[in-house]
Amino acid sequence: MSTSLSEKPDVVLIGAGIMSATLGTVLKELEPSLDMVMFETLHDAAQESSQAWNNAGTGHAANCELNYTPQRADGSIDISKALEVNTEFDLSRELWSYLVGKGAIPDPRAFLHPCPHMSFVWGDENVAFLRQRYKEMSAHHCYRGMECSEDHAKIADWVPLVMEGRDDKQPIAATRIITGADVDYGALTHLLVAQLKAQSGFSVHYKHQVTDLVRSEDGRWRVTVKDQGGGDSLTLSARFVFIGAGGGALKLLEKSAIPEGHGYGGFPVSGIWLRCDIDEVSARHHAKVYGKAAHGSPPMSVPHLDTRIIDGKRSLLFGPYAGFSSKFLKHGSYFDLLRSVEPGNVLPMLAVARDNWQLSEYLIGQVLQTSAHQFAALQSFFPRADREQWREAVAGQRVQIIKPDPHHTGALEFGTELIASSDKSLVALLGASPGASTAAFIAIEVLEKCFDDELTDGWLKRLKTVIPTYGIDLKRDATACRDIRASTAKVLKLENV
Ligand SMILES: Cc1cc2nc3c(=O)[nH]c(=O)nc-3n(C[C@H](O)[C@H](O)[C@H](O)COP(=O)(O)OP(=O)(O)OC[C@H]3O[C@@H](n4cnc5c(N)ncnc54)[C@H](O)[C@@H]3O)c2cc1C
Repeated sequence: MSTSLSEKPDVVLIGAGIMSATLGTVLKELEPSLDMVMFETLHDAAQESSQAWNNAGTGHAANCELNYTPQRADGSIDISKALEVNTEFDLSRELWSYLVGKGAIPDPRAFLHPCPHMSFVWGDENVAFLRQRYKEMSAHHCYRGMECSEDHAKIADWVPLVMEGRDDKQPIAATRIITGADVDYGALTHLLVAQLKAQSGFSVHYKHQVTDLVRSEDGRWRVTVKDQGGGDSLTLSARFVFIGAGGGALKLLEKSAIPEGHGYGGFPVSGIWLRCDIDEVSARHHAKVYGKAAHGSPPMSVPHLDTRIIDGKRSLLFGPYAGFSSKFLKHGSYFDLLRSVEPGNVLPMLAVARDNWQLSEYLIGQVLQTSAHQFAALQSFFPRADREQWREAVAGQRVQIIKPDPHHTGALEFGTELIASSDKSLVALLGASPGASTAAFIAIEVLEKCFDDELTDGWLKRLKTVIPTYGIDLKRDATACRDIRASTAKVLKLENV
């Protein structure tokens, strides 16, 4: 393990979350000689959004999350976004399978468990929507094996807790896909950082906060780092910088002053879960069950009742109940939002405030919800839930992107965005959705944006070893899709249909 600090590293990774850990892993596979340094403000890796309880641990394959499949005015369903997310998750499966295959991750069960994904709706209109969605999705090879039922007994067989105590006249429908997964992204981040530390030319420095980024005349980046343990500040000169700082990324992008980052702002959304650790209850639920989002809610606030398997223990998670906190990181400051306002982004931020009253109303409504209201939402999924068996848990912070927009001055985005400098020497990752599950896809996007000159011959050959379907569109190539899913399911011990 290398702990010494290189003063002129090839790569500086800011933040020890899933995104930096994944990018570092991919880069080291392609070019083992790269000299790489990772800095993290906190005492350990994966303590912010990537920590297991700060996110929902869905291996987002857009199987059953209804927000990815909007209904068109003519009643048909647009599944294009779902297909994108679905096949992005395949890239993560391929990377993890490769790492398991070479022994860098000893056992996939340390971070990944099979868990059926389901959609569950009630009411005639929603039932008709789900029926139509199933018809269109199940016709596509990416959703092979999707099941649909409106039969109470059958759904009770899939998810007994969702059905016990429910009115047997209520019109309901569910779809299920058994190839889904529950992922502990915190454990995965630790595994990735551990295998990086085992390689030469990599060091990670906890309690080290990057405070400044200045471009030097030679085109490198002068990175200033504060030792939170009271030591002296450090200055390094890096050829390439990845700002994978989660909620801290916007501030560092602003510090870098790259013109491509001009006008970006952030809007924080906080979240609360209800969590149940009673074994007798969690043993009776084995699925991630997604419902329909409330009117005006942001896409990541779709309620779901999830099986979680963390440190070998099975629990249930319900939520998230979205809220508002001005912090950009869970361990951040209440002044984060205020400090992020700059002359360059004040107009886009005001435009977003003007154009998103529905979201503001929704968030205010969520913040004002009493715990009785919150529990009633859980009971619409789990009618016999017992209040005594559930407790509140604070989720991670998500900073949604406010983007400069020529038509509206500023627009609110719920996805993720990579902002790269034109000379390809720095890239910042903003946003948080779909999230950790698409980390491999994001790492590949970084390669294509900033390392396209290197991505030929040797690098390309090695990338195709790590991600065998690189360059193949799995949405179109049914055979490649079926084959890669079969092989990754086998290595990762997931279900395959
Ligand atoms: C409520 C919720 C539910 C979610 N559910 C899912 C889900 O089900 N599936 C899914 O795939 N994704 C989900 N996500 C999204 C997912 O958690 C994130 O996309 C992912 O964890 C982001 O990883 P990251 O490495 O970019 O950020 P983080 O894990 O937040 O890591 C960033 C790190 O950078 C550090 N840092 C910040 N500033 C500095 C600095 N100046 N110097 C040094 N270090 C710094 C921070 O301390 C932090 O450790 C969810 C997120 C939330 C909040």
